[in-house]
Parts: sequence; structure tokens; C-alpha cells
Amino acid sequence: MRCISCGFEKLSTFLEVPNAPMRVQVISEKNLQRDKKNDLKILKCEKCTLIQLSDKNYVVNDYYDDYIMSRTYSPHARKYLKGLAKDFISFFDLKNKLVVDVGCGDGYFVYALLKAKSKSIGIEPSDVATRLAKDKGVKVIRDYVDDKFKLDQKADAFVTLEVFEHISDPKKLLTNIKKFLKVGGYGLVEVPSLVKTLRDNRYYDFFPDHVAYYSPTSLSYMLHLNGFDVFSVKHSPDENYLIAYFQYTNKSGLGNNIQKQFIDYRSQYKKFFRNIANNKIALWGAGAKGISSISFSNIPKDAIVFCVDSDPNKWGTYLPGSHIPVASPDALKKEDINVVVVTAMAYVDEIVSTLQKKYNFKKNQIAVITPEPMFLT
Ligand SMILES: [Zn+2]
Repeated sequence: MRCISCGFEKLSTFLEVPNAPMRVQVISEKNLQRDKKNDLKILKCEKCTLIQLSDKNYVVNDYYDDYIMSRTYSPHARKYLKGLAKDFISFFDLKNKLVVDVGCGDGYFVYALLKAKSKSIGIEPSDVATRLAKDKGVKVIRDYVDDKFKLDQKADAFVTLEVFEHISDPKKLLTNIKKFLKVGGYGLVEVPSLVKTLRDNRYYDFFPDHVAYYSPTSLSYMLHLNGFDVFSVKHSPDENYLIAYFQYTNKSGLGNNIQKQFIDYRSQYKKFFRNIANNKIALWGAGAKGISSISFSNIPKDAIVFCVDSDPNKWGTYLPGSHIPVASPDALKKEDINVVVVTAMAYVDEIVSTLQKKYNFKKNQIAVITPEPMFLT
């Protein structure tokens, strides 16, 4: 067996679990005869670190056709899913955009995505789950996302919740998803957290329905291998799940176009200062970001009266590169400064608040430098 994520041939034994149940779904009396216990072997990929079930333990039946996801009977889970949908839609600005929930189960997350103002549909192979989803008034296509699957429009994003732990060929599923996902589109993958399993001695988390047990490392790597740039992998508030946010760039690596973007940004920066040249301008922030951006933009020294900073140790010094003098914020009033450009972006909220409350600056006199140089109003 090769690693199901990266294909590496060296898998070591991670854990052996004797007497595991064959399935973790309740069974009817007539199926008791067929039921038996199983000895599970859990393996670890020596390259990508993915913990995975030995293929000898795979469940071979049409199990998913009657699969019912029952998480959303819990009010706690519903609250979490609503919050997650809202965060995902706002983080990637997906209002009115098409978001496809692959393996949408009973459709609750599609419903939450719609509530968060996206356009959203679900794809789900299970008959029971599809009917539950339709009862919620959400659009669901009953199908597997396999080689034959086709969607009649391109999606801006996709999500999968509690899916990849069941998938023994993640590359194949992601390849089929990428057929309907726009290049530049976004993704959310949620899987049970191996970190939680290991930290809380949850040996009962290992069972044959789950073929993959993702950690932040192996989840990021799996997504990276498939052409996605991972923005973040974080835990759900109860730590039971890992949630990855990522973008389909198809080239692997943030910032493929960065040299051009940098040159564009630098000319915006210069133009911004040219446009406000009739004012008495000060910078706020004699830290790394201010020093660096003013230096590479080649803003003439006399375009700026001085740079202020909250740190008294910097007063009376100069910015390297541009040689702009550094002063106390109190100098803003003495010198009748009428425009302040905040370069200390990490502290922008508190600086803006100080400028407004202590020094009576209005929003249209305060500018920031990212994502582009601009006034607050
Ligand atoms: Zn691997």
C-alpha cells in the first residue's frame, strides 16, 4: 500500500486496534449474523505524516447510500456551523457567489451558507440525506463527485465537511472538484482533528469508516499537493475539527505574480503621495513597515514633514533609507500637520483612535498604506 495522499511507499505501523467494530452505524436484527469484529491496523506515511487506515481494513459495501449525518440534531453543532458559514463567506468575500457543498449530508451547511448570503447548492449521494436537505428548501444534486460528474456552471468556492476522512483517494476527489471550480476559487475542508484524538486518548476515534486521520501538517500538505494555497488551518472552538481555508491557484505557491503586483503597488504609493503633496504630511510608524515602504517607494524626503511614533526612544532619530526625522506624536499639532499616513498597520486601529480622540484628526485626514494607500473615507 502507498500513502493515499502523497503516494509515498514507506508506511510504518502507527497503531493496532484489535476488536474494532466493522462499522460504526447501528444495524438491524437481520444483519446481526453478518456482523463481525475486526483488527484494525493504522499506518503512518513517513513522508507527509498522514495517519491512515490499512487498505486491508477498508469497508467494502454500498455503505454511503444509506448514510445519515446526524451532527445537526445538536443545537451546539448548528450554532457552530452557522458561525463557520458566516466566517468563510466574509473571509473570502463570497456574497452572491456560488459555493458548492460536496457531500452536503442533510443540507444544514448549505442552508447556513445561504443565510450568509452566498448562492449555494449541495451535492450528496445518500438518498435519505438528499431528501432531508430538500426539506430544508436547499438545492441538492443527488450524485457522487466522480469522474463522470458534471456541474453546469463554474463554482466560486467549494466546501466539504466530514468528508475527507472517508476518502481513500483524495487526489481523485479534488481533481473532480477542480473540474467545476474556477481557478482562483476558494475552499473550505473540515475534518476530525487527529490532534484532539491523540491528546485526549480517544482510541475510539479509530474505526473502519475513517480511512484518513488528518493533522494540520498532513492536511496542509495534501491540499498543497493538489494545487491549493493554504491560507489557514485552525481548530473548531471545541477542538474536535480542523478547518482549512485555501485557494485554488493551480501553481502551488502564494504570490505567483508578486513582482508585477509589487511594481503596481509601488507606483500607487508614489502617486498617492504626489496627489496629496499640497498638504503638510506626517507618517505614523517608525517601525519596520514604515521604514521599508517609504524607502522602497523613493518618496522624496521633503514630501514628508516627519514621522511620529509612540516609542520615546525613537524621538530625535531618523528613518534609514529615506532620512525622514522621527518625532513625538505631540508634534502633529505644533507643526499643523493636516494629513497623517499610518504605516504601522499592525496597530492601525489604536493609532486611528488616538489621532481622532487626542489630536482631533478627521477620517479624511488619515490614510493607511494597505491593501492600497488610501484615506479612511
Ligand atoms: Zn504521504
